[in-house]
Amino acid sequence: MVVLIGAYVASLFLVERGEEGYHTFWDGWLYTVATLLPVVALAVRARVDRALRTVWALLALGLLATWLADLAYTYHDVNLDDIPIPGLSDVLYLAAYPFWISGIVLLALRSIGDEYRSTLLDSVVTGFTVGAIASATWLDPLMVTAAEDGQVALSLAFACCDLLMVVVSVVALTPGVRRATPAGVAVLLAAAWFGLGDILYLNLVTRDAYHDGTWVDATWAIAVAIFGLAGWLRSTPSGPPSPPAVGLGRTPAIAALASLALLVVATWHRVAGLAVGLAAAALALALIRVLWTVRVLRRINEGYQQARTDDLTGLGNRRHFLERVDRLGTSGGPLTVLVIDLDGFKEVNDSLGHPVGDQLLVEVGRRFQGACTDRWVLARLGGDEFGLVAAAGEREATEVAHQLLATLDGAIELDGIPVRVSASIGISTSPSGTFRRADLIRTADVAMYEAKRTGAGATAYRPELDPRGLDRLALVDDLCRAIEERSFRMAYQPILRAADLEVESVELLLRWDHPRRGALAPGEFLVVARQAGLIPQITRMVVDQGLADLAPLWRTGARVGLNVNISADDLVDDSFADHVLSALERHGAAPERLTVEITETELASDLQRARRTLERLRAVGVQVSIDDFGVGYSSLSQLLGLPIDQVKIDREFLAALERDQRAQAIVRSTVELGRTLGLVVVAEGVESPASLAIVQRAGVDLVQGFLLELPAPIGSLASTLGRRAVRAGALDPVRLR
Ligand code: C2E
Ligand code: MG
Ligand code: MG
Repeated sequence: MVVLIGAYVASLFLVERGEEGYHTFWDGWLYTVATLLPVVALAVRARVDRALRTVWALLALGLLATWLADLAYTYHDVNLDDIPIPGLSDVLYLAAYPFWISGIVLLALRSIGDEYRSTLLDSVVTGFTVGAIASATWLDPLMVTAAEDGQVALSLAFACCDLLMVVVSVVALTPGVRRATPAGVAVLLAAAWFGLGDILYLNLVTRDAYHDGTWVDATWAIAVAIFGLAGWLRSTPSGPPSPPAVGLGRTPAIAALASLALLVVATWHRVAGLAVGLAAAALALALIRVLWTVRVLRRINEGYQQARTDDLTGLGNRRHFLERVDRLGTSGGPLTVLVIDLDGFKEVNDSLGHPVGDQLLVEVGRRFQGACTDRWVLARLGGDEFGLVAAAGEREATEVAHQLLATLDGAIELDGIPVRVSASIGISTSPSGTFRRADLIRTADVAMYEAKRTGAGATAYRPELDPRGLDRLALVDDLCRAIEERSFRMAYQPILRAADLEVESVELLLRWDHPRRGALAPGEFLVVARQAGLIPQITRMVVDQGLADLAPLWRTGARVGLNVNISADDLVDDSFADHVLSALERHGAAPERLTVEITETELASDLQRARRTLERLRAVGVQVSIDDFGVGYSSLSQLLGLPIDQVKIDREFLAALERDQRAQAIVRSTVELGRTLGLVVVAEGVESPASLAIVQRAGVDLVQGFLLELPAPIGSLASTLGRRAVRAGALDPVRLR
């Protein structure tokens, strides 16, 4: 096909056509055969391409009409001297257009989904405007001639049809309206070539300068060839569909403006009636298109809202929440997410039924909404879980969390039944610029579960809480191995008598030299150990090791005591006391030498069971010390009801001692409390001579801190004891001031 048409086009330039301008072989037979092949190509495509069968069939029929027209023309040319106007060939040429145009329109419709339909109007607006401008500037003067000259009138009709076809093709293929396909583009090009040929022809005919067999004839041949090629090309788009263009596109908007301009010009300048009509139609269509757009937008907006609203509570839903998190995350500042889970909701649902459960959720949602400012976006994430997000820091979020909790303080009346629920809130903040949505929500979840576990109400995320934290699992694995291999290191920090600074006892502080992470402080691995349930094993190991380390010293007659730190998990472990007692026995240690330290906060978590264990230990003579005293805010009366021997004032107060009168007052009142109840009062974290002086003056019994002795391995303990004993005799504590 390409070779034959190529040969024909070449002949137009190479083969002399003579006076008639017509060569029977080239322009008759070769042309006829060559242009039949594209018809065959399109017909074959119509048979194989099921999806676009009608489209290809229409295009093929159009092309067949032009082929027949050429044949008729050749027939006239060969057999008649005068070709009638209009002749059979002209009728056939014109007959091609309805096929082509309907084929192209169908192609466009087939490739445009329902949601794109409105964009077809855009193209019609553009097409009408092009038509209006063309008729005002170019067609109108020709019309005058056309009225007198049949030939001109005919070619004018061709040009108009071509123009229409080009416009329709552009309409169908406007980028952004739908995805252009190779076949579609080829059809457009073919239409454009036809148009070009007809326009050239029209211009020549009006000047009476057209002759057969010149290069102008090549344009039609090429157009037919391109049509044929389209039959071979892909008609399915390759990429994913682009989102539907909702608004009036730029091209139709410009077109509408041009139509308006043309109408304005028409008010003082004569413009062809056809042009005015087309321009007015274009404007009217543009207006319809805008109204249509408004309707579509409203529908989209409704759908958008619906898709982001929780039906039950009317709050935003999970999707809404995630989108808002993303949007706020781009603001650059800190971003905080709160995950709120109701406690006791399941019970309400199970016992009072789902409708009451639903009412409860609605009421809780209403209360939460009332408790936070507009800055916070509240959503129901599903079930009894709510989410809250704002570009805010952790402190502000914690305040909001407490406000939310406060809204659930009273009973909620549902169907006349008072119902009580509480909530657990997890808070996670991402510092400025480090936003990752999935992490933020997951860590807020982790914090929420921690809040649920501890009953704390609201808990802010800390990496130690995270059971799935980065290489947490690996860490748990390593911990198990370290316990098995007893590869921990024990550091001993002396606790001195405040009066003469002689060593009274040593506190065992656990160290872990991790194979890859280096030396880890207890704060870094004990939380993981707790979550993995490893605390009891660790404490037993610590007690054993401490007793084993000190036993040789005791055998030499040293009177130094041993303090070990224990956790809440040990106190609720009923066999813990037994283990300690048997270890004391095994190492031949007097129970009075051992002091267990438990922090105030841990003690408060299960007072009843703690009391039982502590009483058993104390019954045999083991001392009990409350560590980090003063920061736990636990009720003093509760603590004082416990069997204890010692309180260790938290080092936070020691750090503030020199500048803060309140810290001094707390130290003094703790000493007083100790005196009244017969407790030993320890000040830990003594770092400066000034604070040592203050606690000595306040009457603290024992002191501990980096100023006095650093935690050190057992090997150096004997020499420390000796040195201390010598120095204590010579040292006047007052000189340390
Ligand atoms: P703690 O029982 O209050 O131990 C005292 C902590 O204060 C130790 O930190 C110690 O190194 C540090 N310290 C001592 N003097 C000073 C001072 O003058 N200034 C300052 N800034 N700090 C001082 P460490 O070793 O990091 O232990 C932290 C906490 O880990 C301990 O607090 C204790 O609660 C816990 N812990 C340590 N060993 C064990 C253990 O074997 N078992 C359990 N369950 N907990 C342990
Ligand atoms: Mg301690
Ligand atoms: Mg402490």
